Amino acid sequence: MNIYINDLSKYYKNKKALDHITLHLSSGIYGLIGPNGAGKTTFLSILCGLIKNDSGTIEIDEVKFLSDDFYHVFGYVPQSPALYVDLTCNEFLEYICALKSIDKNQIDHTLKLVNLYDQKYIKIKKLSGGMKQRLSIAQAIINDPQILLLDEPTNGLDPSGIHEIRELIIRLAKDKGLTVFISSHILSEIEQIADRV
Ligand code: ADP
Repeated sequence: MNIYINDLSKYYKNKKALDHITLHLSSGIYGLIGPNGAGKTTFLSILCGLIKNDSGTIEIDEVKFLSDDFYHVFGYVPQSPALYVDLTCNEFLEYICALKSIDKNQIDHTLKLVNLYDQKYIKIKKLSGGMKQRLSIAQAIINDPQILLLDEPTNGLDPSGIHEIRELIIRLAKDKGLTVFISSHILSEIEQIADRV
């Protein structure tokens, strides 16, 4: 899969958040590094269709990215996991399956992929920070996207949580052939995981 991002710009009123970004991505793990406020979240949000760019184009395999039909190509892991903590992992993923119109039989397989199968019937509020982040990754990959976008996925995790997430991302990129786009404001963190920064 090839993604061509051409001359992408975004303003919030008069504030310039993205200034003519041009990038070509294919497979592998890409790291997006920049200080807070640099525009990383804005960029990832445009890619997954949460907000619109003001100018520029995104093309996937030579097809212009204009239609909502493309958004299933992306899985998005937001900076703060958006989870309903009173639900169990299973209930939460059933809800995500209903939202994304996919079969619930994907749940077990996805929980196994992120190493949370033993927590299937545990309430989310009882999970550790690293487990919550892995569940957030589960909701992003359950519909089998081709591109996984992760916004500062190790923020606030302890060293073992960071290690688990890093290993999981590398495994997903390798085993599922996903193109991964991961943002961080910590260069050393991103250098350990990304093929290209
Ligand atoms: P990063 O993810 O790199 O920290 P962001 O994409 O969140 O950067 O923000 C880029 C810039 O755009 C910042 O200056 C931020 O204050 C501004 N910004 C982000 N979201 C909004 C918004 N909804 N309204 C106004 N300004 C925003």
